[in-house]
Amino acid sequence: MSLPSHVYDPLRIASVLSPAIFSLGDPDLLVELLNSNPAGVVLVEADPDLPIVYCNETFHRWAPLRDQPILGRPLPELFVWADRNTVRSTYRQVIQSRMPVHRRSVPYHLRADDEDAVGYWSASHYPLRGPRGWVTHVLTVSVDVTDQAVGEARLQDTQHRALTALARIAKHLTAAGQAPSFLDELSATIGELVAAKRVSFWLYDADTETISAQPARLGFNDDELQLASGLPCRAGGTGALERVVFDDLTVMRGAEVVVPWKAGEHRLGAVGAYESIRPSGFTNEDVRALQAAATAAALVWENRQADDAVADLREREATNLRQRIEQSIQLEQLKTDFLKLASHELRGPLAVVRGYVSMMEDGTLGQVGKGVAPVLPLLRAKLDEMNQLINEIVETARLEDSALELQVQRLDLRDVVQASVHALEPLTGEGLELVARIASRPVPVVGDGSRLRMIVTNLVHNAIKYSPQGGEIRVTCTAEDGMARVAVRDQGVGISPQDRDRLFTRFGRIVTRETAGLPGTGLGLYLARDLARRHGGDVTLESELGRGSTFTLSLPLSSS
Ligand code: ADP
Repeated sequence: MSLPSHVYDPLRIASVLSPAIFSLGDPDLLVELLNSNPAGVVLVEADPDLPIVYCNETFHRWAPLRDQPILGRPLPELFVWADRNTVRSTYRQVIQSRMPVHRRSVPYHLRADDEDAVGYWSASHYPLRGPRGWVTHVLTVSVDVTDQAVGEARLQDTQHRALTALARIAKHLTAAGQAPSFLDELSATIGELVAAKRVSFWLYDADTETISAQPARLGFNDDELQLASGLPCRAGGTGALERVVFDDLTVMRGAEVVVPWKAGEHRLGAVGAYESIRPSGFTNEDVRALQAAATAAALVWENRQADDAVADLREREATNLRQRIEQSIQLEQLKTDFLKLASHELRGPLAVVRGYVSMMEDGTLGQVGKGVAPVLPLLRAKLDEMNQLINEIVETARLEDSALELQVQRLDLRDVVQASVHALEPLTGEGLELVARIASRPVPVVGDGSRLRMIVTNLVHNAIKYSPQGGEIRVTCTAEDGMARVAVRDQGVGISPQDRDRLFTRFGRIVTRETAGLPGTGLGLYLARDLARRHGGDVTLESELGRGSTFTLSLPLSSS
């Protein structure tokens, strides 16, 4: 069984045993035990002078008296003057409070003439009481702890330097700049910390299994750098650097200290400090400070590598994005150019065909055959449909070129609606009924007649197109609350709520099983809403999937 370590602490043994032994009352045993005690023991009378009544051999050896008698001498005399007041006040406290006083690692002057010669002691002072309870004596047990205290102070200094190293290196965490200038800063900081003329970061390259000194302000010069570059470095190698990198060895030879440079298990290489500025060379504390600095530098390095990787990624993503945007701008331009071209090329021939159909209708070309007359209205409607399609394309192209100008005038919206409905009637097949409910009084608006007709035609045409199962299409034109409204209600396929916004975007089409075969550009509603808004109005929608839709064009009523 191992004993608790305090059992061996001579101060504790003496402190605990001495008062107990005193109470034994056997002077011989007492003296023998006290004399063999490795701690100094001194007994003084509770008198202002603190005369020494007894001291053991250890204490006697410490007292600077040579052969002079010690008994009867005031205790404070044994101390150099600077410590005497403290001694007196400590004893006064013990006598007055009747309580023991324990003091640990108290500094004292070794010599009167040397301020810097300081030792440390730990002491316990016990009050001994007479029959009436008054303190008659004070027993002091003391141990010289100078070695211990100096060791602790050195440890504290080392810790302090290591912490300073960490803090100072950590500052570089946020520093910007490329790797060389960054290592420049780091090596300068470490140089100051460990008082080295030169500091070098050795970076290990796992691919080539080599290690190279990195260029830095406090590092090697160019020629040396060349020599210190690409040195073989393999696990299991016996070279000093190899062992530092792979076996976590710390090299310390008079003019150089080399420690591992690693972040967790990631071996970055080694950090070396060379040529100490101190005449006595590098100390153990320097090694500790360098180790702490290397650990911090590794974290900083890793952090920066991660930052660089993220920045790289961002840059690549930004370039990709830029390219994609450029591509889509080009594509947009191509589309617009195509729309312009297609509409221009189609318009000419269509105008010619429409002209001939008109001539057939009004008899300019003579009597048309019996078989042709009935299909003329459908032919006309289809040509109008085509014309509407081309107009939509032309208008969209204009809109995108910002070349669209409204030719506004005061007009009755009822005329627009009637003309559109009339033109589209031939397109309603079997099972589809187109009903117009037009206000009996004028619905005056200020607008561009052909554009407004384009809007209404699109809405009615869509209602026909997207009612494949037939049903009623009801077109109403009303004036109410200062607004003119044209509502087109169908009982067609309907539109789901999540698709609504998309309808009004350019080329926005919803293709379902039911509508897959229907022709269209996806431009009509986009244009309709844009044109309506340019008139100070809007095109809105209410719909239920599978049950039908109502599109409403609203425009401000003209007051006069
Ligand atoms: P398109 O040329 O495709 O008809 P539009 O811009 O006029 O282009 O319409 C966009 C889309 O809105 C259509 O493709 C269709 O999916 C949907 N849509 C328009 N009107 C109706 C309607 N009355 N009923 C159901 N869906 C409609």
